[in-house]
Amino acid sequence: METDRLVIAVDGPAGSGKSTIAKRIADILGLEYIDTGAMYRALTLKVINEGIDSKDTESILELLQTTSIYFKDNHIYLDGIMVDDKIRKNIINKNVSNVAKIKKVREKMVEIQQKLSKSSNIIMDGRDIGTVVLPRANFKFFIIASVEERARRRYKELIEKGEKDISYNQILTEIKRRDKLDSTRKISPLRKSPESYEIDTTNKTIDQSINEIIDIIKGGN
Ligand code: C5P
Repeated sequence: METDRLVIAVDGPAGSGKSTIAKRIADILGLEYIDTGAMYRALTLKVINEGIDSKDTESILELLQTTSIYFKDNHIYLDGIMVDDKIRKNIINKNVSNVAKIKKVREKMVEIQQKLSKSSNIIMDGRDIGTVVLPRANFKFFIIASVEERARRRYKELIEKGEKDISYNQILTEIKRRDKLDSTRKISPLRKSPESYEIDTTNKTIDQSINEIIDIIKGGN
């Protein structure tokens, strides 16, 4: 367990609300927030921009060697360019799990994430934070919601961002596919660690989920 700093791990499937929740908790408690999904998304953006197939492991590993991914002022940069919006497109949602299951990709990302976690009080969200990246976190949360609710949220978000040619059913199918890929992959699958607090956001407002988490952290248990 970390003793000198507050380290919080947040994991969960796509659309569970974990990023929204983690970001707000970072603001409330004055923590640094790291969205690890953004890192896998940024690499996937480069893969797509270069015309590489997301299943072409060899080419992706070659690309990885000349790729720089970092955060600055809560923005994500790919090779020096801010890519906050570009990484949220549906084409990235569709391909990111293929890129994220590559062992060497994960090793590089986890190394960066662990370095980032050393210097400050931090809340980090992803799929393997409590299990692999920050196993000694003071608090671990596993955020879930029904797959239908998660698809509804993601669909709404994409429509609001101006995506066309998508349907709710298509997003539901894609989320189910991503859940399966993320939870059945060989390396660091999405899994709830035994010491995690499970928070089900299906029928809760964001504020209710946040309050539940803050109560646990403040209660210190
Ligand atoms: O959290 P988000 O939906 O942005 O993550 C995008 C994808 O990145 C996930 O579906 C998963 O394949 C991958 N990911 C991961 N490990 C993490 C964070 C994200 O494999 N720690």
